[in-house]
Amino acid sequence: MSGKNGDLPILPGATLGVLGGGQLGRMFAHAAQRMGYFTAVLDPDTDSPAGRVSHHHIHTDYDDVDGLARLAGLADAVTTEFENVPAPSLEHLAVARPVSPAAPAIAIAQDRIAEKAHFTRCGVPCAPYAVIETAAQLAAIDDNLLPGILKTARLGYDGKGQQRVKTRDELVDAWQAAGCVPCVLEKMLPLEFECSVILARGRDGQIVHFPPQRNLHRDGILAVTEVHAQNMPKTVAQGAINSAKSIANGLGYVGVLCVEFFALADGSLVVNEMAPRPHNSGHYTMEACDVSQFELQVRTLAGLPLAAPRQHSPAIMLNLLGDLWFPGGADNKADKPVAPRWSEVLALPGAHLHLYGKIEPRRGRKMGHLTLTGATLEAVRATASQAALLLGLPAVATADLA
Ligand code: ATP
Ligand code: MG
Repeated sequence: MSGKNGDLPILPGATLGVLGGGQLGRMFAHAAQRMGYFTAVLDPDTDSPAGRVSHHHIHTDYDDVDGLARLAGLADAVTTEFENVPAPSLEHLAVARPVSPAAPAIAIAQDRIAEKAHFTRCGVPCAPYAVIETAAQLAAIDDNLLPGILKTARLGYDGKGQQRVKTRDELVDAWQAAGCVPCVLEKMLPLEFECSVILARGRDGQIVHFPPQRNLHRDGILAVTEVHAQNMPKTVAQGAINSAKSIANGLGYVGVLCVEFFALADGSLVVNEMAPRPHNSGHYTMEACDVSQFELQVRTLAGLPLAAPRQHSPAIMLNLLGDLWFPGGADNKADKPVAPRWSEVLALPGAHLHLYGKIEPRRGRKMGHLTLTGATLEAVRATASQAALLLGLPAVATADLA
């Protein structure tokens, strides 16, 4: 947290602000409002998911000085819901109001080069990589990094800004296609599975965390998250928690942080990236834990105590992309969107539907998610399989490594 913070904790009845009006801001606003706060959203889109549910909605660009001044005037503290918010805007707000996460942490998360340097400083290994900012660095790439993934240093998300390359020639073409912007080339690793850890760190350095999530990505986008006692070996889970804590402590971080990892066949872990906010892989916490990731975001922002969250139900989360509205498949481009079979999905026990209020379903767009909870892992798996079938999603592969 940075800025004027003499009046913490900020108690219910005050107004909490958020930069960004996407679904994460919407779920933050819901959590804040449940606790008795008013909310203010700054987002240029007049129809943003968070703006629609917030008490105040400021429609300006993120670097609009007037918009930022209005946000600071309305809100007693300000957070963000996406990492590409301009760090100078957070610095600007922090002069007047408590802001968390602080601008320097966001700036590191915005840049893969700075982010990997931070992981290395914290003693947490990442995949072998090289920085490519110049033609000379491109020419000097070690063959050992191929096949690899060329990732733009900035502005990538959901697999965008990434190109898989097998040879040096492909690498040269890919860097050119990326506009010769700063990039990293990462060695392609054989992943056993992917996982993430979500933690919250308070101003006093106290950390609480959720159990590590096991994540399945399809086409670079999170598709399924499974959280239960058998989702990964205990040593891997503990290693991920320890690394995430080191990364947060190294930043002096305040707020909710998600750290994504790759688990390799030999049982080792490498860190992939971090998100300085609640994360898609933590949406299950709303129904499967006694405190959600969004409530922890409220608590860290307001300077309230952090209670260690407890998961009380095994959970599987299915991401709902706009593709589900087009059952004809990718070839059927002329299709009109058709609402998925919600009634049948909601007839399943322990099915929790979240739709983000986005009007237009588009392929690849995150429209919502479905969390399945139940008394036993078997029950959750059974309902997740039925839900996937009803929605036309691929069968849910199950993890059972214990
Ligand atoms: P996000 O939406 O999570 O921000 P992103 O666009 O930043 O995604 P990454 O997380 O870097 O992208 O990569 C997306 C996915 O691509 C990973 O979750 C993983 O499945 C795959 N991937 C990325 N890097 C590697 C690698 N070095 N080896 C193998 N697979 C990888
Ligand atoms: Mg990622």
